[in-house]
Amino acid sequence: MSRAEKTRIDWLATLANFKDDPDHAANDAMWSPRLDGASRDELVAIQNEKISVVTPFLYENSRFYRDRFDRLGLAPTDIATVDDLAKWPVVDKSEMTVDVEANPPFGHYTTMSDDLWRSRGWMQFSTSGTTGTPRVFRYSQIDREYWAWSNARALHAMGFTPADTVFMMSGYGPHVWAWAVQMGLAKMGIGIIPGGGMDGKMRAGVVERFKPTVLCCTPSYALYLGRVMQNMGLDPGATSITKLFCAGEPAMAIDPTREKLEDLWGARLMEFYGCTEAAPQAGGYTCAASGTGTDGPFLHLMEDLQVWETVDPDTMAPTAPGERGLSVCTNLISESSPQLRFLVGDFTTLNHAPCVCGRSHVRAMGCFSGRADDLINLRGIKFFPTQIEKSVRAIPGLGDEFQIILSSRTTDGMDVMKVVVEHPEHKDAAALIDQVVAAIRVETEVRVDVDVVAHNTLPKTEFKAKRVVDERVKV
Ligand SMILES: [Zn+2]
Repeated sequence: MSRAEKTRIDWLATLANFKDDPDHAANDAMWSPRLDGASRDELVAIQNEKISVVTPFLYENSRFYRDRFDRLGLAPTDIATVDDLAKWPVVDKSEMTVDVEANPPFGHYTTMSDDLWRSRGWMQFSTSGTTGTPRVFRYSQIDREYWAWSNARALHAMGFTPADTVFMMSGYGPHVWAWAVQMGLAKMGIGIIPGGGMDGKMRAGVVERFKPTVLCCTPSYALYLGRVMQNMGLDPGATSITKLFCAGEPAMAIDPTREKLEDLWGARLMEFYGCTEAAPQAGGYTCAASGTGTDGPFLHLMEDLQVWETVDPDTMAPTAPGERGLSVCTNLISESSPQLRFLVGDFTTLNHAPCVCGRSHVRAMGCFSGRADDLINLRGIKFFPTQIEKSVRAIPGLGDEFQIILSSRTTDGMDVMKVVVEHPEHKDAAALIDQVVAAIRVETEVRVDVDVVAHNTLPKTEFKAKRVVDERVKV
């Protein structure tokens, strides 16, 4: 037997060894008490065991990883524990892109040979490509079975039961989220209504007629559909919907946005977090305690399946405990695409203290407020579009939409920002403008110009908001 085959058998056996409660929840509180209720020491022991087996597997089966180990002068055995991970510099998207461009169309980071791909079965997914060429990932059937199980664990923690019916308002494109959620729901015996290829009115009709209890969509879409229903003379708050199950954009941690959605639908907002490259199933999920207690909104990260860290955005060095940084994920639940220290790149603060729900898995406090790529730098002051959202949405009477326009002043070349908001009394809005200016200044320390326009003037967001228009002259 070759070393490649031997290390693969060892890795798959290790994955199987930690797949507790494969088909059914053990009890109402936790799908898998040994994993979901593990102590910190137990979680680290699981991570160490997985890391010690995955690094030889990566070395023997992935060209990308073998070359990187060799280049760094490291042997696979040099990275055998969580503490050893610091020896491995983070892998970012650009390094993956270089690999894909040199070895199209999939790159060399997979652990699967062409023969194995042909015998294992696979499905192709792609990143959204908001910051460059979409990168494509194939995942094996074995991987998808692990997603179904791990997503079932996360959905169970969120309170999903077979009494629910989930309306999946996804286009079922190449994005991994909806597919992986559907696999988890099917495992749990939960009813699914596929809602791709419909417009808002048709979807409103489905809600009225078939009475789903859960909407699965982006937060922007949940808001959009609620407004569509109101325009049809229907009350979203009086429908069968009890849960808004969202991902793709931050919402849980933006208080006024969360309140707007929950008030509109009379339902509770829940959030999933992940990424195509390293956490295609639920990397993170809100539990029943998120957003209800003194800890505010947060996401649990599944630590028996991944190692989560935060790093300094400039130096990429690990941040001190409790300090804000960019998310980094080591994926320990994959046959075809395990990853060591992939820079997911969302800002958060990790908290290892136990949660009142009984889980000790690390929590991303304040959820993930924005990707480093979205950060606006205006004259050296850095802030996220979500901070503007928070300021604008906290002011009563403003419409759902707003726009952030960045430009360079023609007189002196200085970069400035204007925020456009909607309000019915847009013609005499001096007091309102003062209020918006002050709210944004408190949140971001930036002084902005504000324009108030009539309701329904700005383009309506359907799936994912694009609110920043950057017209600055680049120097
Ligand atoms: Zn919890």
